[in-house]
Amino acid sequence: MITLEKVNKVYSNGLHAVKDVSLKVNKGDIFGIIGLSGAGKSSLIRLINRLEEPTSGKIFINGENVLEFNKKQLLERRKKIGMIFQHFNLLSSRTVEENVAFALEIANWNKNEIKERVTMLLDIVGLSDKAKYYPSQLSGGQKQRVSIARALANNPDILLSDEATSALDPKTTKSILELIKKIQQKFSLTVVMITHQMEVVKEVCNRVAIMSDGRIVEEGGVHHIFADPKNEITKELISYVHQQTDTEIDYLHHRGKKIVKVKFLGTSVQEPIISKVIKEYGIDISVLGGTIDKLATMNIGHIYLELDGDLSAQDKAIELMGTMDVIVEVIYNGY
Ligand code: ADP
Repeated sequence: MITLEKVNKVYSNGLHAVKDVSLKVNKGDIFGIIGLSGAGKSSLIRLINRLEEPTSGKIFINGENVLEFNKKQLLERRKKIGMIFQHFNLLSSRTVEENVAFALEIANWNKNEIKERVTMLLDIVGLSDKAKYYPSQLSGGQKQRVSIARALANNPDILLSDEATSALDPKTTKSILELIKKIQQKFSLTVVMITHQMEVVKEVCNRVAIMSDGRIVEEGGVHHIFADPKNEITKELISYVHQQTDTEIDYLHHRGKKIVKVKFLGTSVQEPIISKVIKEYGIDISVLGGTIDKLATMNIGHIYLELDGDLSAQDKAIELMGTMDVIVEVIYNGY
């Protein structure tokens, strides 16, 4: 759906904000681009609809090279890309319905069609009763709903979200993310969301790219990234969300009994891991505890196991677990 090939953006002041970024967003993805402030996320998302021109590289949407578009083609393409922002960017002198209608007026829709579409969109975002309100009379969450309705007005196939929930409280954030999920399905949208909040990625995204200093340092399915982050920045961003960390789990350490953390995707593991290693190496295993992280795409389970028996057999058991469809981490080595 959207493909970036070795895209660079160097601003006129010489700042190299986007460095050699290659990225593939599939149709129907809710694709998160996450990174700390200044990582280059806004610059990157603005290249997709050519609000910024790349210095080098290629950008394809539906197989078409958008950098080769003439003015008319670009305007047509932009109509099919809805965008929402952290600070909503609503017109304060226009009511809710007039804000949503604005793009349709520019596109020369007739009055009745506009009325019908605006009514439908306000219903979808849950603001039918606020049609005559002005932005100043709305809460942050309601303003973002208006801007979502506006972004959908021209029936886009792509929605770009630039920190859309960053100015909202956690509860409102959740409701806006739910709405984004709902409209993604209803309108078969491809969504690209930039955010500095891993919570957002966890709640709605199916795929994620982590950006740091202008580069994509890691990318993949959200559950894989959460279960097994490789890059230090990714680990740091995830550490802000994980409810439970190893240091919080203060299990008693018993000499000679190793403790391992086993991470698995989904709610269960296909192979009977525990019974397999018990049979194979004649050790005992106790379950100390566990948690399940719920992600948009999948759950990630963590269980903590204490092994008992011959230490070299315990080592072999851990080795065997490592060959199965789980990620094993030794928390306490038994010495
Ligand atoms: P993020 O969205 O991850 O916070 P940005 O893309 O906004 O990152 O910024 C990346 C870098 O590019 C920053 O150092 C920022 O100061 C710089 N930058 C952004 N826009 C411009 C611009 N128009 N001109 C010059 N530098 C810019």
